[in-house]
Amino acid sequence: MKLGFPHLEFNSQSAKLSAIIESTKSIIYAVDSLGNYLIFNDSHRKMMWACYQIEVDPKVTWKETNLYEQDRLKLAGFIHRALTGEQFRVVEEFGNPLFKRCWFEVNYNPIRDEFNRVTGVAVFLEDVTERIALEKDLRAAKESAETDAKAKSTFLSNMSHEIRTPMNAILGLTELLLYKKLDVNTIENLKAIQFSANNLLTIINDILDFSKIEAGKLSFEIQAFDLLHVLEDLNRSVSVSATAKNLVYEVNMSGAIPKYLKGDSVRLSQILLNLLGNSVKFTQTGKVKLTVDVLNETETDLVLEFKVSDTGIGIPKDQMQSIFHSFSRVESPQKYKTQGTGLGLSITKHLVEMQMGQIRVDSQVGKGSTFTFFLPYLKVKANELSQTPVFEDIGKVSFNEMKVLLVEDNKINQMLARQILQG
Ligand code: ADP
Repeated sequence: MKLGFPHLEFNSQSAKLSAIIESTKSIIYAVDSLGNYLIFNDSHRKMMWACYQIEVDPKVTWKETNLYEQDRLKLAGFIHRALTGEQFRVVEEFGNPLFKRCWFEVNYNPIRDEFNRVTGVAVFLEDVTERIALEKDLRAAKESAETDAKAKSTFLSNMSHEIRTPMNAILGLTELLLYKKLDVNTIENLKAIQFSANNLLTIINDILDFSKIEAGKLSFEIQAFDLLHVLEDLNRSVSVSATAKNLVYEVNMSGAIPKYLKGDSVRLSQILLNLLGNSVKFTQTGKVKLTVDVLNETETDLVLEFKVSDTGIGIPKDQMQSIFHSFSRVESPQKYKTQGTGLGLSITKHLVEMQMGQIRVDSQVGKGSTFTFFLPYLKVKANELSQTPVFEDIGKVSFNEMKVLLVEDNKINQMLARQILQG
């Protein structure tokens, strides 16, 4: 009995191999060191005919195909490279004057004899014309989408910028009118204008920030600031809206926080104002509270933790993540009628994360919500403080007898500024 693996006769094995090579869609051929064909399969024959309009003859070398001259040179270069013993892959376009150009992914493999000398090159080609065309279409579609997105965000940012100029006049002139002696009805109307204009300005500012974030153009300042001042300024505006709804507004700031920090105080105010504004907006009774603590501290910097909590309507569990997405608003079962674009929390999350912080929310429907975020700040060294101007409130300034140069291109804003200065 014969043991071992069943083996094939040499001839039968080579017949099977050649059947496999013939059946594949891949284009396979081999040339010797002079460039004469050693072998080629049916796909190669068809491809050569389709692309180069020639009948392939074993006696013909690839040098005699009617390829474009630059393609012939390219091919000669590749074969030559493989004949030096290098195995490599290229994606190349070949063609001839009579026929369309085709893209191929080509593998060049040196053939070696028993003494390891390179005696020829085996070439495997895959026609990737369709794939390349698809990739080209995809790239074009992507580029066009990117151009559209850029145009959209430039439009948004230009528009919101333009709208802010007249808003300044509306708000400024309304405020000036409110200083005058007016009847109750007119004051009420003016206050309604002021309220609506402020609302509109918040929306415009949100759109401007949103378009800046989308365009990757949002930048942050690193300046020394007094955190207590920031919180006091904030308290002034939050207290007004909280008191108007009979809500208690409480602020707790840890005594361990140094007086001066370095970072972006304007963006911090914006984040806090947005969260506190939401808390007041979504709370009918009870309390809105802000606490600030030190989460971590090193010699040079510290991480502050801010918590904004309220006793408001709360957020359903399944919507706690989506509220941070752009334009997302909770569908309230109580049918609360509130204003808002659904941009505030998305901008807030970006502002926190772009400053290396993180934000999260805990909430219970009907009980209230707590938004917690942390942000890193640099500590201010004593010698830095003397160089960095920290602006203090200098109180009321009188412009009597003073010469003031005012630069403003908008006519109505010129009029407003003149009136304020003449005050
Ligand atoms: P909007 O401008 O609509 O307030 P935000 O992005 O600031 O947009 O908030 C998105 C949604 O998240 C709000 O419409 C509201 O449904 C919900 N939300 C945010 N803050 C609170 C909160 N403190 N309490 C309850 N719901 C909140």
